[in-house]
Amino acid sequence: MKASYITEEHEILRQSLRKFLEKEAYPYYDEWEKAGEVPRGFWRKLGEQGYLCPWLDEKYGGFGADFGYSVVINEEMEKVGTGLIGVGLHNDIVVPYLHAYGTEEQKQKWLPKCTTGECITAIAMTEPGAGSDLASIRTTAVENEKGFTLNGEKTFITNGIHADLVVVVCKTAPHASPAYKGISLMIVERDTPGFSRGRKLDKIGLNSQDTSELIFEDAAVSKDNLLGKKGEGFYYLMNQLQQERLIVGIGAIAACERMLELTVEYVKERKAFGKSIASFQNTQFKLAELQTEVEIGRTFLDRTIEAHMNGEDVVKEVSMSKWWTTDLVKKVAMECMHLHGGYGYMEEYEIARRFRDAPVTAIYAGSNEIMKTIIAKKMGLV
Ligand SMILES: Cc1cc2nc3c(=O)[nH]c(=O)nc-3n(C[C@H](O)[C@H](O)[C@H](O)COP(=O)(O)OP(=O)(O)OC[C@H]3O[C@@H](n4cnc5c(N)ncnc54)[C@H](O)[C@@H]3O)c2cc1C
Repeated sequence: MKASYITEEHEILRQSLRKFLEKEAYPYYDEWEKAGEVPRGFWRKLGEQGYLCPWLDEKYGGFGADFGYSVVINEEMEKVGTGLIGVGLHNDIVVPYLHAYGTEEQKQKWLPKCTTGECITAIAMTEPGAGSDLASIRTTAVENEKGFTLNGEKTFITNGIHADLVVVVCKTAPHASPAYKGISLMIVERDTPGFSRGRKLDKIGLNSQDTSELIFEDAAVSKDNLLGKKGEGFYYLMNQLQQERLIVGIGAIAACERMLELTVEYVKERKAFGKSIASFQNTQFKLAELQTEVEIGRTFLDRTIEAHMNGEDVVKEVSMSKWWTTDLVKKVAMECMHLHGGYGYMEEYEIARRFRDAPVTAIYAGSNEIMKTIIAKKMGLV
């Protein structure tokens, strides 16, 4: 079933992006996984082809594309590998903060470079001591005559190594009560004095994605780099996190579809007891069940995307689709790897990498337990 928001233009984009990725990404992906990062040159090529933030207005370098284009780009990137999640994070998660809350001057300064790949972005919320409980972050920004002095440490930051611009979540009023009212967003540029990268983190999956620690030691942030209003940061996050969670769900369903495709192919070819693995009823039932669940997940996700595109309040539905699709991707990864037998455990088979990449989707962008607390609140249980 085709989603109602997907038009012929979206399909044309899908075909050209797929061709581009077949030339520029698929052949190099294993190399990037080993290197622990995607080269910056790939970002520039994405920019040249118009695949970075196409939703931005023309005056900032985009072409005013609707969210359907973002869906297609995220799906096609996911089909190469979950390690390309940094592109979706830049396109549909971080740059939207600059667009929604930036001043005209800030937008003119940075947005065009975000579409060419000259400027790669990241968002730094998580700290060594605070992830789910965002209001308890300890990074502070103390105001002075020129701007702010930023101190603190962030971790698990996607695009952390490549980022030229980081939206940093910090406290401008550390003693505010309730705590979330003291949170602000600062735009920190690559060459800011006092800003440095910590370790590039050694993950069990998403290996081509550069994830790192960021350190701020009396970092001097200009007053022009405050994003939006002081003390409003938590509200901005709550608004923008909806699209972030949708992006994770879109990736999860695309990964499920890819794993089913790989597994159907494999079980038809592999033989045991003189028959193909596909001919065993267990294989057929397992795959039929998974296919059904994936299609159910896609239908609900598509409905949520459509409502999001229509500007409806989708907090509950986004939380539901995020936890459900990312639980599903873990299940699909486990079952599909199992159906590959011993070969599924070998790195030379794509399913092994998918199995390593899947679990983190249930953790980042708000863990699945946090999604359930939001749903419970919406149900009037809290
Ligand atoms: C690969 C990767 C990329 C990431 N990218 C980014 C990024 O770009 N920017 C960024 O800011 N962060 C990023 N993160 C961080 C991510 O968002 C956090 O890891 C996540 O929010 C969970 O926080 P935590 O790790 O501190 O876990 P904790 O908050 O310590 O949670 C530990 C466990 O307790 C559970 N838990 C916590 N609170 C509750 C509760 N109230 N009820 C029930 N259970 C609960 C959690 O669900 C989890 O299972 C990334 C993480 C990873 C692994």
